Amino acid sequence: MSSIITTQLTTTPKQKPATEQLGFGKHFTDHMFIMDYTEGQGWHDARIIPYQPLALDPSAMIFHYGQSVFEGMKAYKTAAGDVQLFRPERNFKRLNASNERLCIPAVDEQFALDALKQLLAIDREWVPSEPGTSLYIRPFIFATEPFLGVAPSKNYHFIIIMSPVGAYYSEGINPVKILVEKQYVRAVIGGTGEAKTGGNYANGLKAQEIASKEGYSQILWLDGKENRYIEEVGSMNIFFKINGKVITPALNGSILPGITRDSMLHLLKAKNIDVEERRITIDEVVQAFEEGTLEEAFGAGTAAVISPIGELKWQNRKLTVNDGQIGAVTQMLYDTLTGIQNGTMEDPFGWIVKL
Ligand SMILES: *Cc1c(COP(=O)(O)O)cnc(C)c1O
Repeated sequence: MSSIITTQLTTTPKQKPATEQLGFGKHFTDHMFIMDYTEGQGWHDARIIPYQPLALDPSAMIFHYGQSVFEGMKAYKTAAGDVQLFRPERNFKRLNASNERLCIPAVDEQFALDALKQLLAIDREWVPSEPGTSLYIRPFIFATEPFLGVAPSKNYHFIIIMSPVGAYYSEGINPVKILVEKQYVRAVIGGTGEAKTGGNYANGLKAQEIASKEGYSQILWLDGKENRYIEEVGSMNIFFKINGKVITPALNGSILPGITRDSMLHLLKAKNIDVEERRITIDEVVQAFEEGTLEEAFGAGTAAVISPIGELKWQNRKLTVNDGQIGAVTQMLYDTLTGIQNGTMEDPFGWIVKL
């Protein structure tokens, strides 16, 4: 793979949105990174170009069989004006793990990180600086070969686009209501649940649509075989605090290994809070609720960092968590992780990568 990245700068820079208009994933920076894969040649033609639409053959395999993977990460601007990333090497490592599962050729992780840093340097002014804002980064790879046969594609694009995003919690963190799903499943062991691939999301839309109509903001997914073991919440990993102990489902092959999840585990251990990675059933959560030991529950992922759970609906029961208020450990984890990410707190873990 050639390590040269050519650069073509835009001649028509866009107007940057005002902070209040940011939202999530609606605005995109002036430039994008793209490189191509051709069988026999490998990855080639790495380039940074003005953000623009793509021209693809209607028979491009991505449109038909969904061979694609993606990542999600953020860049933050500190009060001192530095731009920094949070554990970005983990994202590119996971990208290759997803590639492996989807029969997509691996990318050079160091090269991908260097490419991202070059893109960030060019679009540096797009990293918002208001508290709670960040630049969301979306690397993705998809099959471009024009062919309707079912087989791994011989051609791919690897693209990185970036989007300035607003504060997820502009009016303070409000715990959300969650519907525990018993009909649909997100993933099964042996499937693609461990990979960050679009198909997992397409598969989850139906249950999410039904939950939204009932006034619930996310689905709590149970395992695909016995419909008992808790897996994830929406597109986040899930944590419970029961009787003083923090519990998160152990990675089992169908759960996405979140980098936020891993960071929470490190933070909890550093704070000497008991934490367990193990199987946990919905019945155990119901029992804890009945015994008054279900103390806190929250989802964890890059976009929201933490989303506290105020209510769980399972069959005909409604389980209220911590009176619908955010719990003390949840708040501490949120403050600590966001503090490290935006540079207001020290990073004893070596997680921050400065531009
Ligand atoms: C991306 C993702 C997560 C969270 O991963 P992070 O690395 O923490 O952002 C959790 N579950 C699913 C299904 C995901 O796609």
